[in-house]
Amino acid sequence: MIVYDWLIVGAGIAGCTAAESLARRTSGRVLVVERRDHIGGNCHDRRNGEGLWVQDYGPHVLHTSSVRVFDYVSRFATLNDYVHRVRARVRGIDVPFPICIDTLEKLWNVELTALQMDRMLNDRRVAVGEVRNARDVVVSQVGVELYELFFRGYTQKQWGVPPEALDPEVTGRIPVRLDRDTRYFTDVHQGIPVGGFTEMMSRMLAHPRIEVLEGTDLADVVDSVRFDRMIYTGRLDDFFDRVHGALPYRCVEFEHTDLDVSRYQDAGVVNFPGDEPYTRVTEFKHMYLLDHQHTSVCFEHPGEGQEPCYPILSGESRELARRYRQEADRQKSVRFVGRLAEYRYLNMDQAIASALDTVDDLLGD
Ligand code: FAD
Ligand code: UDP
Repeated sequence: MIVYDWLIVGAGIAGCTAAESLARRTSGRVLVVERRDHIGGNCHDRRNGEGLWVQDYGPHVLHTSSVRVFDYVSRFATLNDYVHRVRARVRGIDVPFPICIDTLEKLWNVELTALQMDRMLNDRRVAVGEVRNARDVVVSQVGVELYELFFRGYTQKQWGVPPEALDPEVTGRIPVRLDRDTRYFTDVHQGIPVGGFTEMMSRMLAHPRIEVLEGTDLADVVDSVRFDRMIYTGRLDDFFDRVHGALPYRCVEFEHTDLDVSRYQDAGVVNFPGDEPYTRVTEFKHMYLLDHQHTSVCFEHPGEGQEPCYPILSGESRELARRYRQEADRQKSVRFVGRLAEYRYLNMDQAIASALDTVDDLLGD
């Protein structure tokens, strides 16, 4: 039986970062097990038979202002020049989202200065007192009309519950801008790794002391493989056989289609806060800066599909997660890292940072 120093459960960005860092910084042997038949976790991407780029689990753009994360990623890939811009389809037109001066000008057919926008919003802002939920955050910034138009329907579709039932941080991720900045992310760095996310992560795992088993669940190896310590990036509740009940995670079905047109929409992502059965449509060639006579698009249907994508953050789920975390803290030889295992709404750069910090901690830095 081979003895490993480290068992990494999950080959998403958190697991790959942990595996790479441990292999490079120690002389130990690392085994990575991944239950899906590919590495990359939810950031997995690939070129399909037509040569078109597809991200199987929805649109992913790496964005970060962290020098450490950027330097780390730069060891394995260069980011392309893509700048993520999102449109929202409201009242039949596509307007820039998040809400900025250009959004309101297009929507209301007016010309605005920042000061005028601020005044108009001031007349609409609702004094909610303490911000308690995902609706309060929005109405306190832009009022009820814009909330109804851009947020209520989208959030209801995305999470399957009304915004009032969700924590403020869910919609609090989205800024309101009193300027003309139509970028989705304003971090110092953003883009898609040249060659794709999967290639970047396979470079991370290409270390002689890292072994990767795809199509392999933790349960398949836990009794047959010897290891000293584990980094676990799967669902937090799964690790404990859901003894306290299931933590709510939102699944999404990603409906992929290739189309016989060279361009389907004017932006990488268009959001649909209205009655459409999907939340957003992604056209990947924008993101990969791909010139091709055809195009690949993805429609997102939240509430369907199998893979857990998002922790559903509410007072109740936080309390349940806290109970599981107490159990997790008692596991002396296991660390819980990443979006599923920490039960936090982490972006990729935060998942990378969390894995780097965990390895620092394990190695006594
Ligand atoms: P995951 O990617 O979920 O990886 C965990 C892996 O563990 C999975 O591959 C899973 O199969 C495996 N696993 C679980 N249990 C077991 C087990 N028992 N045995 C073996 N393997 C197991 N972030 C951004 O920064 N920018 C974006 O634009 C962005 N867009 C997003 C869009 C969508 C639709 C979603 C859902 C998320 C988006 N994110 C984005 C967040 C990003 O996906 C996460 O930050 C990132 O994937 C977290 O990586 P992870 O390794 O923690 O988790
Ligand atoms: N949201 C919304 N309308 C939009 C975009 C986002 O109401 O057009 C809300 C929704 O609740 C969503 C949250 O803001 O879940 C965060 O949006 P983000 O784009 O960050 O979601 P992600 O990319 O993580 O799916």
